[in-house]
Amino acid sequence: MAEDDSPDLPPLRDVIARHQLAARRSLGQNFLLDLNLTRRIARGAGTLAGRTVIEVGPGPGGLTRALLLEGAAEVVAIEKDERCLAALGELADAFPGRLRIVPGDALAIAERDLAPPPHTIVANLPYNISTVLLLKWLGRPADIAMLVLMFQREVADRLVAAPRSKSYGRLSVFCQWLCTVEKLFDVSPQAFTPPPKVTSTVVRLTPRPAPLFPATAESLQMVVAAAFGQRRKMLRSSLKTLGLAPEPLLEAAGIAPEKRAEEIDVEGFCALARAYDAARQ
Ligand code: SAM
Repeated sequence: MAEDDSPDLPPLRDVIARHQLAARRSLGQNFLLDLNLTRRIARGAGTLAGRTVIEVGPGPGGLTRALLLEGAAEVVAIEKDERCLAALGELADAFPGRLRIVPGDALAIAERDLAPPPHTIVANLPYNISTVLLLKWLGRPADIAMLVLMFQREVADRLVAAPRSKSYGRLSVFCQWLCTVEKLFDVSPQAFTPPPKVTSTVVRLTPRPAPLFPATAESLQMVVAAAFGQRRKMLRSSLKTLGLAPEPLLEAAGIAPEKRAEEIDVEGFCALARAYDAARQ
């Protein structure tokens, strides 16, 4: 045991070498080896003592050890790459009863089956499926207590973007409607092994007790998709893909038909979604 009672753990570089975990691009593998950094990510979820944390893609276990060292009562780690399971097994031995390894595809697993909701999920996500996973979790916002996730900075920019900015789009509207979204800090490519091409950002999403404005998720997603599907066009034109005359919808929502998608805030899109719902009755 080390001085602070945490187990002596081998350096991650040794773990990766011993288990021959050469990173695979197809699995979005960019590993974090710096424990100061992974502990900082873990602390992004607040005090972990007594809490169960779900981690997607533990890989060789860098963030996993940080979550355990920061005091999580249990970490439930879902990993698709079977090559990582032996290394994770060693980590589980070092933290008896506190690390549950779930082999499999996080896209196909229902977190509810692993632990009772609401869930705290912390992950350095595989970039190729990061937004798909996020939308999966936000499909059941009441099941989520908090998400602390590493994204490509460009995706993080979209999550927090305000109207009239280049990054503002479908993801901004939907995520901000359901959650408070905070960028915590950037992480340079050099912090990863191998380094990705772009800077990354750790983001915290906390579902609101209720969505920001009334609307159904389905209609909101449909109007937002139609509006941003042709973001340079005026709404009276872009909304035609909804299959209803756009002008009455826009009038009911109190939005000028000459406006473009990027000028409409979350409140405006919710008004549009309600008008769309009413018109479809
Ligand atoms: N957490 C580790 C770290 O921070 O060093 C690894 C992060 S790496 C960016 C992404 C991890 O997700 C890899 O371990 C990869 O094998 C895993 N992964 C990729 N697709 C997955 C999926 N569909 N389900 C579960 N894990 C997946």
